[in-house]
Amino acid sequence: MDECIFCKIVKGEIPSFKVYEDEKVFAFGDINPISPGHTLIIPKRHAQDLWEISGDDLTAIHLASKKIIKAIQDALQPSGVACVQLNGPGANQVVLHYHLHLVPRLAGDPELPVATWELKEGDMDEVREIAGKIAAAIK
Ligand code: 5GP
Ligand code: ZN
Repeated sequence: MDECIFCKIVKGEIPSFKVYEDEKVFAFGDINPISPGHTLIIPKRHAQDLWEISGDDLTAIHLASKKIIKAIQDALQPSGVACVQLNGPGANQVVLHYHLHLVPRLAGDPELPVATWELKEGDMDEVREIAGKIAAAIK
């Protein structure tokens, strides 16, 4: 993808602060960090989102996340790390090249809105019906 900003980062055409690289993935510091150490992991081969990424690349991303989250723990001693991944503009995905955010949580950080939604009991008939609809569509 010629115009994709993350493909340009993989190719070194745009500078980045590299954290980790292997055959399939590249990880670097987010330039608008939600907290210090906010890291993005991307596949080197362009794929827009979870619908498009290959199983092999997805596996490589998650294996890398395990390695990097350990390094974050050792280097920054966070109180936790949020792994966030958005799919599609409707979910606020801004850069349309698959990326997994690793967001270290430090004492005193403001809450992450996505991690603090209010728990409200659902309608169990609806939960059952929709789970059934998704289950029936699994290929
Ligand atoms: P999204 O909302 O798509 O999940 O988040 C995209 C992320 O990419 C944002 O956190 C944004 O700060 C980050 N980002 C966008 N452009 C660049 C860039 O050129 N370099 C780096 N390091 N991060 C970027
Ligand atoms: Zn790309």
